[in-house]
Amino acid sequence: MQKDMYDIIIVGGGVMGSSIAYHLMADDQLRVAVMERDPAYAKASTPLSIGNVRIQFNLKENILISKYAFEFMADFEEKMEVDGVRPRITWQRDGNLFLVEEQGRARSEEDMALQKELGCNVQWWSREKLEQQLTQCNLGDYVGATYGPDDGTMDPYAVLMGYKSKARSLGATYIQDEVTEVTRDKASVSGVKLASGKDLKAKIVVNCAGPWAGQIAKTAGVEIPVVPVKRQVFAVNPDPKVKLNNLPRLTVLPSGLYMARETGGLVLVSKTMAEDPIGFDFSWDDKRFMEIVWPELAEFIPGMNTLKLMRGWAGLYAVNTLDANAILGEWPELKGFYLANGFSGHGFQQAAAVGRHLQELITGTEPSMDLSVFGTERILENRPIVTNVIV
Ligand SMILES: Cc1cc2nc3c(=O)[nH]c(=O)nc-3n(C[C@H](O)[C@H](O)[C@H](O)COP(=O)(O)OP(=O)(O)OC[C@H]3O[C@@H](n4cnc5c(N)ncnc54)[C@H](O)[C@@H]3O)c2cc1C
Repeated sequence: MQKDMYDIIIVGGGVMGSSIAYHLMADDQLRVAVMERDPAYAKASTPLSIGNVRIQFNLKENILISKYAFEFMADFEEKMEVDGVRPRITWQRDGNLFLVEEQGRARSEEDMALQKELGCNVQWWSREKLEQQLTQCNLGDYVGATYGPDDGTMDPYAVLMGYKSKARSLGATYIQDEVTEVTRDKASVSGVKLASGKDLKAKIVVNCAGPWAGQIAKTAGVEIPVVPVKRQVFAVNPDPKVKLNNLPRLTVLPSGLYMARETGGLVLVSKTMAEDPIGFDFSWDDKRFMEIVWPELAEFIPGMNTLKLMRGWAGLYAVNTLDANAILGEWPELKGFYLANGFSGHGFQQAAAVGRHLQELITGTEPSMDLSVFGTERILENRPIVTNVIV
């Protein structure tokens, strides 16, 4: 049996695995292997995501992570240039708007105060401002909204490809194979077993398997509270008479319904629901659009009464059932086993900060940002981060 040695093996070549690989290769000449079973990324969460980045969170660390994403992505295309070719990430920063009802107002004001204290650009839109701005919307009982003018979307596949090709150009090896087991030697990690029958050796293995992270951890005898939860997105073409140019890039209602303006006049609509099923189910369901999503959309924007449902898809959130936040760092009971998991609905925008953080933890460098709140110990101690995070 062929035995290959690496310093670090990363399981999963999505945006997290690729950002970590890039950060490791940019700083050190390490032997890094990224295991990815599907280089077409058909089921990976990254290309199925909306690609939104916002500072509108209520946990200090999540806000700082997004603030760093703004900084890091500003010259991403230049940084990721390989042989004169740059990724085109199509960053459209025309804002995220979160509508607010009376009962949520105090909480939204508190969150906004924290975001401002951390130096973020966020505004309160009064009811009058909403009436002036969103002329095509039925504003019901909304008392106002919070607006992050710098928030916006980018092409998640282009970002993933940017990290990946740069990491490869710096020497990272991407291997198409499936990891069937993370192997251990007593209390330390020793490498991975692959579906092809090969064994690879490394003293450090990083779990970046997205919604499959719980399965990967289990093969090493580690239990983490990360489950795959189905989220459906519907792409609609509105009636050309409905003008949507004055809507921000992303508008979110308190019910969880959100709509993102896309290129080519498309609008992506989705709704996070408590009953969204757990499991590896990628089927999408136009009945859900017809019966739940469309009526609510048309109530908010009456002109959406006529539209064309172009297509839909389902992707998976890797939901951390303890507190819906990231799990970052070395597992306390297995030396060399690092986790970058459980990002729920906001992992895409966290890839820059997480890539840097994991690189610092792995190489023993002082962390640039204190992300200890997301440490692995809280999982072992069943100690959730307390926040009303939006997943
Ligand atoms: C519909 C939807 C909308 C979203 N919108 C946003 C958004 O607007 N903003 C935001 O910040 N986040 C968003 N997210 C969340 C975001 O997509 C994820 O948090 C992020 O992409 C996670 O990246 P990842 O690299 O951890 O996982 P993934 O992209 O899923 O990558 C994991 C990779 O691991 C590979 N893998 C798994 N098991 C194995 C194995 N055994 N062997 C080899 N390879 C393996 C998989 O093939 C996959 O490519 C959204 C998610 C969905 C589903």
